[in-house]
Amino acid sequence: MDTAALLTSLGFTPAELTGGSLTVRSPIDGAEIARVHQTTAADMPALIARAQTAFRAWREVPAPRRGELVRLLGEELRAAKAELGALVTLEVGKITSEGLGEVQEMIDICDFAVGLSRQLYGLTIASERPGHRMMESWHPTGPCAVISAFNFPVAVWSWNAALALVCGDPVIWKPSEKTPLTAMATMKIFARALARFGDAPEGLAQLVVGGPDVGAALVASRDIPIVSATGSTRMGRAVGPKVAERFGRSILELGGNNAMIVAPSADLDMAVRAIVFSAVGTAGQRCTSLRRLIAHNSIRADLTAKLVKAYASLPVGDPRAATTLVGPLVDHAARDRMLAALEQAKAEGGTVHGGRTVTANVPQGGAYIEPAVAEMPAQTAIVREETFAPILYVLGYETLDEAIALQNDVPQGLSSCIFTLNLREAETFLSAAGSDCGIANVNIGPSGAEIGGAFGGEKETGGGRESGSDAWKSYMRRQTNTINYSAKLPLAQGVKFDF
Ligand code: NAD
Repeated sequence: MDTAALLTSLGFTPAELTGGSLTVRSPIDGAEIARVHQTTAADMPALIARAQTAFRAWREVPAPRRGELVRLLGEELRAAKAELGALVTLEVGKITSEGLGEVQEMIDICDFAVGLSRQLYGLTIASERPGHRMMESWHPTGPCAVISAFNFPVAVWSWNAALALVCGDPVIWKPSEKTPLTAMATMKIFARALARFGDAPEGLAQLVVGGPDVGAALVASRDIPIVSATGSTRMGRAVGPKVAERFGRSILELGGNNAMIVAPSADLDMAVRAIVFSAVGTAGQRCTSLRRLIAHNSIRADLTAKLVKAYASLPVGDPRAATTLVGPLVDHAARDRMLAALEQAKAEGGTVHGGRTVTANVPQGGAYIEPAVAEMPAQTAIVREETFAPILYVLGYETLDEAIALQNDVPQGLSSCIFTLNLREAETFLSAAGSDCGIANVNIGPSGAEIGGAFGGEKETGGGRESGSDAWKSYMRRQTNTINYSAKLPLAQGVKFDF
């Protein structure tokens, strides 16, 4: 399907795609796809007021009924999966199966949230006073802003929105300025779910289009009690303190610098497959992409040779072609940053394999590059940084303690893994003295998380948790209730106050 037909099939009108001040280009060939209209600062107060009004109505809708809206959203996403997945490929440059996989992730979180809508459980707690009962109630908190990054242009919204909506919170979404079209298409799909649902309040899910300035209005507003922000650590440093200053709640999902330890007992063939997918998938543009390989010195050379061989056979090219495994980087600036990082790696004593710009047999105008392996003498400055590109730094180790220390000795704390067949090593890695990351895996790579678990990381990754497990609690306020059904008024802790 060509671009115009794809956009029409997703319900775009020519007026939405032309005449605006934000130019949208496809990373595939740099071609302009649209000029969309941006939200202005002047629009923001009314938008936020609409979300507040929607909140007052939505918080009183029973949670299982709220779940029904999310169930319908899941149905509409299933119906539009092929087209939305293709738009993810067009706007971000992901290969076809990853574009579709991103939409599947939206469907999965909708399913999860529907079940959750009947499971927003609070505790009952034993009271020390006779004739008293204690319990916890979870209530909706208020409008939730979702600021999202370019690399998961639709899934991140759904992780937040599916949960926020069943929890009773309206959502205002500011997607990356690089990916407004996938966001607009998602809102059209959501509108279809709303129409079938019938009586949802207006303004339950809104979209604002633009750059950091538009996001700043959401960050600053006291009427937005929750700000979920996904992006670089630089962005988190700007957003986090501003939300904290007004005592808002932030859910920060920031940069990663994810590692794999490969122990002598590891199944090397399996490790190679996991390494290649997690370092090269999405052209190294996942927050959970594998960036550091910490290999035992006894297998390091062998493993590196296998990787260099595997990398040489990876098809780089048009992400829409069925055989392509490595699509373009999001833009030329991203490729320049990758090339600069490789130069710095060399200056810091590294030996680089691959990492050359690709111009043959790829669409002209896109930023295509060979994924790179960089053998490093130590965990130097560039290795400690997140470069959002397919660079895999290889380091060696002698003892597991040394490997864990290297793995943890970076500012970020998102995802990690170990390949080993040794139970003691695996359990040590997962123990309190092991990986300091929010995600720690054994015998699978660091990327490609399922929605059932809580997703997020520590340190400069920001500490937020989204998606599964009990991440829903971030979207609700907890209330502790004590109920006295006796005819007396005993005080806690034996305090006497008779008059
Ligand atoms: P980015 O930080 O450039 O932008 C992310 C979003 O924040 C965009 O919508 C942008 O407009 C907005 N923004 C930037 N500065 C802002 C400010 N001062 N106030 C309000 N909004 C602001 O990130 P990117 O290049 O789009 O995405 C790549 C980064 O995102 C990587 O660092 C990656 O690791 C991270 N990421 C993290 C996760 C996670 O779950 N931890 C997931 C995806 C991406």
